[in-house]
Amino acid sequence: MAEPIEPMTAGDAGVAALQIAAMDAAANAMFICDHAGRICWINRAFTQLYGYESEEICGDTPRRLKSGRQSEAFYRDLWRAIGTGEVWRGQLNNRRKNGELVDVEQTITPIRRDDGRVSHFLAVYEDITHRLHSEKRTAHLALFDSLTGLPNRDNFQRRMSEALARATRTGKALGVMLLDLDHFKAVNDTLGHAAGDELLARVAERMRPCVRESDVVARLSGDEFGILVEDLERPEQALESAQRLLEATQSAYDIDGHPVRIGASVGIAYSTGDGDGPEALLHHADLAMYQAKASGRGRAQFYDAAMDQAARRRYETERALRTALRDDILSIVYQPQVQLDSGEITGGEALLRWTDALRGPVPPDEFVGLAEQTGLIFALNDWVLRRVMREVAAMRQRTLQAVPISINLSAGHFDQQGLADSIERLLLEFQLPATAIRVEITETVMLRSSTTVHENLRGLARLGVALGVDDFGTGYSSLPSLREFPIDYLKLDRSYVGGIGQSTRDEQILRAIIGLARAMDIQVIAEGIETRQHAEFLLAERCPQGQGFRYSPGVPMNDFLALLDIRSLTAREDVRPGAVIHPLRPDRRR
Ligand code: C2E
Ligand code: CA
Ligand code: CA
Repeated sequence: MAEPIEPMTAGDAGVAALQIAAMDAAANAMFICDHAGRICWINRAFTQLYGYESEEICGDTPRRLKSGRQSEAFYRDLWRAIGTGEVWRGQLNNRRKNGELVDVEQTITPIRRDDGRVSHFLAVYEDITHRLHSEKRTAHLALFDSLTGLPNRDNFQRRMSEALARATRTGKALGVMLLDLDHFKAVNDTLGHAAGDELLARVAERMRPCVRESDVVARLSGDEFGILVEDLERPEQALESAQRLLEATQSAYDIDGHPVRIGASVGIAYSTGDGDGPEALLHHADLAMYQAKASGRGRAQFYDAAMDQAARRRYETERALRTALRDDILSIVYQPQVQLDSGEITGGEALLRWTDALRGPVPPDEFVGLAEQTGLIFALNDWVLRRVMREVAAMRQRTLQAVPISINLSAGHFDQQGLADSIERLLLEFQLPATAIRVEITETVMLRSSTTVHENLRGLARLGVALGVDDFGTGYSSLPSLREFPIDYLKLDRSYVGGIGQSTRDEQILRAIIGLARAMDIQVIAEGIETRQHAEFLLAERCPQGQGFRYSPGVPMNDFLALLDIRSLTAREDVRPGAVIHPLRPDRRR
C-alpha cells in the first residue's frame, strides 16, 4: 500500500521496513512528503482522520487539507521554518475529505539523507478537537456561572473595566447595581437546596430582559446578582432599570408546585467613567444595597445620598406627571399682558399648572425640563396646545374683547416634523384665526440648524401665527437669526426686569435689547414687572407692554374673562419679592 521511500539511514533494509510498518500502525496520523511538498506516503491513522485513501492523496500536496482558517502568512512561516531544517510544531485547523473541520496539533520533522541534506518531511498529527472543546468548556466555566448561565464575578469585573473605559471615551455614564434577594435563606431552609437553585435560575431568567442586550446581568455569588447598565445620561435611568428589576423579581414563582415569593434590594453606584475603578464601584453598590435593606427592603438605593434624593424625586416626578397627563388633572392659567401706561389688556400668556395630590403645586420649572429630557414633553405640549385652543375658542365666544394668547413651546418640539401642520389642524378644528394665538420659543430654537426646525418656524409664520422669543438675552442670541426668522416680539426676561433699580448692568442690557428691537422693528414685552419702579423704567425706555405680578398672576380662563370685561387693570401696590400673589378680584378693582 505504501510507496517505497528512500531509506533514512544507509543500512539495513529490513530495519527500514520494520520502521515503516510501525509508523503505519501508529495511532497518530502521519504523512511523508518530498522536498517539493508532494505527499508520497500516508499511514492508516491518516486515512481514519482525514478520510483519504493513499491513492487519492499521494502525489498531491498537503494543501488538499487546508480549511482556509489559517492565513497565507501562517503557511509561509511554516515552510520557512522547515526549509531551514527546523522542526515545526503548531496547532491548525484542517478539513476532512467529507468537509468537516478538525483541529490538530502538527509536528513536521525534516528527514535528512546521509549527506545531511533534507530530502523529505514527516508530518505527525494529533487530533485535538476534543481537547480544545474541553479547554473552551473550562474557559466558559471560568467566566460563567453554571447554574444560571450568567457571567460570573470575574467576568462581571472585566466587563465593568471595559465599560468604564468606554464611558470615559463616550462621555456617557454607567450604573453598577447589586441586587440581593431578601430572605433567600428561608427558601433554602424550608424547600431545600434544589428548590433554592431552581429559584435562582428563574430569577436570572426574569432579570435578563429587564436591561438591554448590551448590558450585563451577572451572578456574583449565592443570591447576589450584579447588573451593569451603560450609555446613561441621567441617574434616574439607572433607577428606572433597578425598579424594573425589582418588579420582575418580586412577582410570585411556582417552584415544584409551591408558590414562592421573594423580595430583593438593589444598591446602585453611578459613574461617569472617571474616578472610581471597578472594585470601588462594586463596593459602593454593596454599601448602598445594605442601606436599601436597612431602610425596609424591596427598594433600590444609590450610594450617593444627594444623588439618591435628586434621582428619586425626578423619577417620581416623571411618573406622577405621566399619571397627571393621563388623568387630565393639569390645567392652564392665563397671565394678562398689559399696556403699561393705561393698564389695558393686550394679550395673555398661557402657563401650565400642575397640582399633585401628594406634593401640592409643582412649578413648571421643575417638571418642564424633566419632561424635555424624558421625551414626555411632546405629549405635554400636545396637551397644552389642545387645551389652550379649546379655552381660547371658548373665550372668543364669550367676549368681544378677545386678545391673542401666547403659548410656550419647548425647543425639542421644533425638531418634530409637522409641528406647524398640527397647529394648523388644531386652529381649523377649533375654528380659530391664526392671530388668536402666538407661540413663544427660546433662543436656542433659532440656533438649531436643522431643516425641520426651520420648516416649522417658517410654517408657523406662513399660517400667520406670531412668534415671540422668550427670555431674550439670557442665552446665545444671534442677531442674524433674528433677521432670518419672522420674529414678532422679544420677551424681556424677568431676571433683568428684577434688576431695575438694583443693577446698572441689568438696566443696560434692557436698554440694549429695547434699542435692538426698535431698530429691527420687533415689539418688546417685559415680564416679571413687580413694582412701580420697574414699570416706570420700562415706559421711559420705550417698552410699552408687559406682564407681571404688579398687574396679575396667571388666572384660570374664567377669571381671565372677567378681567377682560373690565378691560384694563390697575396696578396694585408694589409686590414684595417672593410674595405669593393672588389674582385681583375684578369686583375689587373698579
Ligand atoms: P416663562 O415663559 O418665562 O414664563 C413666565 C414665568 O414668570 C411664569 O412662571 C410666571 O408665573 C412668572 N411670572 C410672571 N410674572 C411674574 C412676576 O412679576 N414676578 C415673578 N417672579 N415671576 C413672574 P411659571 O408659570 O412658573 O413658568 C415658568 C416657566 O415654565 C415658563 O417661563 C416657561 O418656560 C415654562 N412653562 C410654563 N408653562 C409652559 C407650557 O405650557 N409649556 C412649556 N413648554 N413651558 C412652559
Ligand atoms: Ca414665556
Ligand atoms: Ca420668560
